[in-house]
Amino acid sequence: MKYKVKESSKKLPDRRTFIQTLGSSCVLLLVPKFLFARENKKGAAWTYSNGYAPSEHYYGMGIDISKCIGCGRCANACKLENDVPREPFFFRTWVERYRIFEDGEVAIDSPNGAADGFKPGSAPEKNLVRNFFVPKICNQCDKPPCVQVCPVGATFKTPDGVVLVDSQYCIGCRYCIQACPYGARYLHPEKRVADKCTFCYHRIVKEKLPACVEVCPTQARIFGELEKKASPLVRFMRMNKISVLKPSLNTEPKVYYANFDMEVR
Ligand code: SF4
Ligand code: SF4
Repeated sequence: MKYKVKESSKKLPDRRTFIQTLGSSCVLLLVPKFLFARENKKGAAWTYSNGYAPSEHYYGMGIDISKCIGCGRCANACKLENDVPREPFFFRTWVERYRIFEDGEVAIDSPNGAADGFKPGSAPEKNLVRNFFVPKICNQCDKPPCVQVCPVGATFKTPDGVVLVDSQYCIGCRYCIQACPYGARYLHPEKRVADKCTFCYHRIVKEKLPACVEVCPTQARIFGELEKKASPLVRFMRMNKISVLKPSLNTEPKVYYANFDMEVR
């Protein structure tokens, strides 16, 4: 799929509009979601007390499948950073191993989401043709079905292109979990609210990288701006043939894969 700047992002108003609308007061990061939604519909932008202006950014992630070694440091760092339960089945990001055999069989596994890393096998597997790792994460879709189905507006999209869940409004109905075609959400067992990757929003508003990107030893994950020509992500997308997961669903994912294998689902 050829990358193009998303139309929706171009419509975002600038910081000046926001300042004109709300005066010089700053909106705190934890402002209730309903305020976010209303401001979005009105077309006003947001800003934060540290001067970060969401309307000046538009984020995505690149993943180079050929570079992933399945070490699982990303999945582990994410759990630590984001208070994701240690038990299996709860993940904001995970890594799948694909094994393709001579007879066409495709075996996919992801023990504990790869938070403990994949251990190298003791002997080469018979009839194995190829073997690779695919990091998965919320795709921060530009047209997110999870947002459309939320009955209370607790899940929403920010002007900088990140889909978030406001845990204060989430009623734990699981509609968004069922609506996500990528299996990127889970119900937090203690908080009883939907949870998913936020691109480590609390970090990126402070100009830090998401935890999974920071710890990746091979730079298989590239986080960055989609609308700034000099950004490493735009360069990555220019230099590689880019694919997204399930493009036929028209969710317009903003996680872009390089060296994609046609067997990846
Ligand atoms: S940390 Fe990097 S190399 Fe290791 S599993 Fe994650 S994406 Fe792959
Ligand atoms: S990947 Fe799933 S949870 Fe993430 S934005 Fe898309 S539909 Fe929503």
